[in-house]
Amino acid sequence: MRVTAAVMEEKCGAFNIDTVELDTPQAEEVLIKIVATGICHTDLHARDGYFPMPYPGVYGHEGGGCRGGRRPRGGASGARR
Ligand SMILES: [Zn+2]
Repeated sequence: MRVTAAVMEEKCGAFNIDTVELDTPQAEEVLIKIVATGICHTDLHARDGYFPMPYPGVYGHEGGGCRGGRRPRGGASGARR
């Protein structure tokens, strides 16, 4: 599925809001419809190369939202909806 993300193309570069492809959730994962997110100080450190992050990368690891998808077939046994 196509989603909107803050993408960093290179170390110390600008955050670019772009459309990227997101894999279908796997077993033990859920799909969350994000309604709010932000860029925090940790993201800025990652942008500046303080962590071993690959480029390009998607930033903004904090967010709020609601569950927006079904568990794919073959999910973990005993899982509840
Ligand atoms: Zn953070």
